[in-house]
Amino acid sequence: MRRFAVASLVLLISLLPFSTTAYAQEPRSTTLLTDVHLDAIVAEASGSLAKDTVIALSTMHRVQGASGFHDATEYVAARAREYGLSDVAVERFPADGTTTYGTFRSYYGWEAESGVLTEVSPRSSTIADYATMRVALADYSNEADVTADLIDVGQGLSEKDFAGRQITGKLVLAGGNVASVHREAVEKRGAAGIVSFQQNQTTGWSGDYLDNVRWCHLSPYNLKNAFAFMVSLRQAREMQGRLAAGETIRLRAAVRARMRPSHFEVVTAVIPGTDPAAGEILYTCHLCHQKPGANDNASGSATILEDARILARLIRDGKLPRPRRTMRFLWPPEIAGTACYLARHPEIAARTKAAIHMDMVGGDFEKTKAVFHVTRTPASLPSAVNDVAAVFGEYVIGGSAAFAAGEGGTRAMLSAEGSKSQFVAEIAPHSMGSDHDVLQEGSYRIPTVYLNDWPDVFIHTNNDTPSNIDPTKLRRVAVIGAATGYFLASAGRDEAQALALEVYARGAMRQGDALRRAIAFGTGGPVTLERFEDARNIVEQAGRAEREALMSVRALAYDDGVVTRMLATLAAGVEARTRADVDVVQRYVPIPAAQKIEPAGVSLVPKRSPSVVGPMSVYYYDYLEDKLGASPPGDGRIQYETLNLVDGKRSVREIRNILAGAYGSVEVESVLEYLRVLEKAGVVKLE
Ligand SMILES: [Zn+2]
Repeated sequence: MRRFAVASLVLLISLLPFSTTAYAQEPRSTTLLTDVHLDAIVAEASGSLAKDTVIALSTMHRVQGASGFHDATEYVAARAREYGLSDVAVERFPADGTTTYGTFRSYYGWEAESGVLTEVSPRSSTIADYATMRVALADYSNEADVTADLIDVGQGLSEKDFAGRQITGKLVLAGGNVASVHREAVEKRGAAGIVSFQQNQTTGWSGDYLDNVRWCHLSPYNLKNAFAFMVSLRQAREMQGRLAAGETIRLRAAVRARMRPSHFEVVTAVIPGTDPAAGEILYTCHLCHQKPGANDNASGSATILEDARILARLIRDGKLPRPRRTMRFLWPPEIAGTACYLARHPEIAARTKAAIHMDMVGGDFEKTKAVFHVTRTPASLPSAVNDVAAVFGEYVIGGSAAFAAGEGGTRAMLSAEGSKSQFVAEIAPHSMGSDHDVLQEGSYRIPTVYLNDWPDVFIHTNNDTPSNIDPTKLRRVAVIGAATGYFLASAGRDEAQALALEVYARGAMRQGDALRRAIAFGTGGPVTLERFEDARNIVEQAGRAEREALMSVRALAYDDGVVTRMLATLAAGVEARTRADVDVVQRYVPIPAAQKIEPAGVSLVPKRSPSVVGPMSVYYYDYLEDKLGASPPGDGRIQYETLNLVDGKRSVREIRNILAGAYGSVEVESVLEYLRVLEKAGVVKLE
C-alpha cells in the first residue's frame, strides 16, 4: 500500500505543470517565494540602519561632479565593503563638456567654497549663505565679489520684464528658470548676477510652503556663468514689497566657486550568482542631489544599500540559497551616471534581465504628502517584472493595512524608531523622471521596477530633511526590493511557471480594464471612424502587451521546453480573451460611415541608426537641441516612447496604435512629424 501510494504521488507530480520537488510544497503567502525565505527577508530588513545612511548622506551636498558627491561615494563604498559585497569600486567617467557617452555629452563639475549674499544698505543682514544652507548658491555659479543695487524683474524671462530698465551691473531679483534668467539678464543685458526665487517641481501645494529654498542650477556647460543666489518665496516677496515702495536695496554678493573639468563617479558592487550564463539583476538609485536631499534621494540610495546588506547577510548565513544570477548594485549621479555606465558597459546592459530602481522611497506621508508607487514599465516594454513587484508590493501594503485594522502580525513590518502608520502606497502605471528612463530606453530595454514617492512638498529644497523620513517605510520598501530582486535573481523553471500564471491571471484584470476604457472611449463623444478604431485598438493593444509580458518570462528560463510550451498555451488564452473583447467592441460600439484620410508616410517603417545609443534627453543634456538647435515641442513621454517603439519592423501607424492604446489620444501626424525630426538628426531612417 505504502509503496503504491508513493508511486502514485510521483506519477501525479509528474503530470502537474509544476514538475517541482520541494518548491511547491512549502507554505507560502505569495505564489513567488516560500514563507521561510520571505520571513527571513522581513526579519532581517532594518529601517533604522537605512535611516542612519539617509542621515549620513544628508550632510553632503551631492552635486554631480563635485566633492560632496565624491564624499558620498566613499561613504557608500565603505558600507558596501563592510556588508560583505564583492567587487566594490568607484568608477570614474570624465565630465568635461566634451566627452560623450552614447547620445550624452558630459558637462562640467563644480566646486564651491563659499557664497554669501548680504544686504549692505539700508539694512545690514545676511540674506543667503552657502555655509549654513548649501542650496543658497545655485549650482555652477562662478567666482564673484559684487556690490550693487537689486532690481525686481518679475520672472526675468521676457522683453517686457526688462523694458525701460537699467540692467547693466545690477543684481536682478527674478522668479523664472534661473539658467534662462541668466541668458536674458546677465548674458544679453549685462546684469552682474541673480537673486532667484525660481519655483519648480509643481505639486498641489506649490506656493504654500513659503520658507522652502529651492535647489537650482545655472547651465552646467557654460564656463562663463556669473552666479545666482536662491531665496525663499517669503524673502522674495518681502524684497519685492520694499522695492515697489521705492526703497533702494544694495547688496553684496561674494562667491568663491568655479566650474571645472571633473568626473562623474558611480559606485558599483555585486553579490555573485552561481551561474554566469544566467544574466544579472540590477539595483539602482541616484546618489546625487542637494544637501540635505533626504528623500530625494538619500532614501533610495540607503534602501538599495539596505537590500544589499539583507541579501548578502542572508546568503552568507545560509538562510537564502545563493541565487543563480549575480545581483549588481549601482549608485550613480542621476540619469547622467546611468547613461555613462550603460554606454561604457554594453555587455553588462545586455545581460541584465531586470532592474529595481529606487528614487524617493522614505517620505513620511503625514509630513511630505508622498504616496509611494510601485511603478510599471512603459508600453514599449511589457514585462513580467511588473507582476513580481506587484505581488510583493501587495504583500507589504496588505500587511500594513491588516496591522492598521488591529490584526497585528509580522507583516506590519514596523521599525522601532518609525511610524505605526498604514503604508500609503499603490501599484501605479508607468511614469517618467528618473534613471529608469535610461534603462528602459530602446537602446537597452532593461525592464525596470521603479519604486518612488510622489508628490513630495519638500522635493529639491532645503527642507527635504531626514526628519521627514519614516524608518518603517524604509523597512517596508526594503522588503519589496529585496523580495522582488531575490525572486528574479533566483528564478529558474519552476519560478518561471509560477510567474507565468501570475502574469496570466493579472493580465485578465488588465485586459478587462482596457475593455472598460475602450467602451468609455468609443461612446464618449461624437461618433467617428477614428474613435471606433481607437476603441478597438485599445483592446487589441492590451492583448499584445499581455502576450509580450508573458513571453518576457522566458528570460528567466531560456530555452526550457516546459516553460515555452506553457507560455504558448497561456498566450493562446490571451488571444482568445482579446478576440472576445474585440467582438464586444464591434457589436456594441457604433460604426460610423466616414473614412478618415491618412497622411502619406504612415506606412513607412522607421529604423534606428545603430550608432545612436541612448535616450534623446539625459538630465541637463538634450541631444536634439544639440544637433538641430531646438528640441521639438510635444509630450515628452510620447516622444520617448515613439523612439522606443522603433524596431525596424513596426510602421508609423503601428507605433501610433501602440501609443494610443496605452496613453490615450495620439495623432498619427504628430508621431510621423517627430520621427521626421529624428530622421533629420540621423537617429532613425524612414523606409
Ligand atoms: Zn530623484
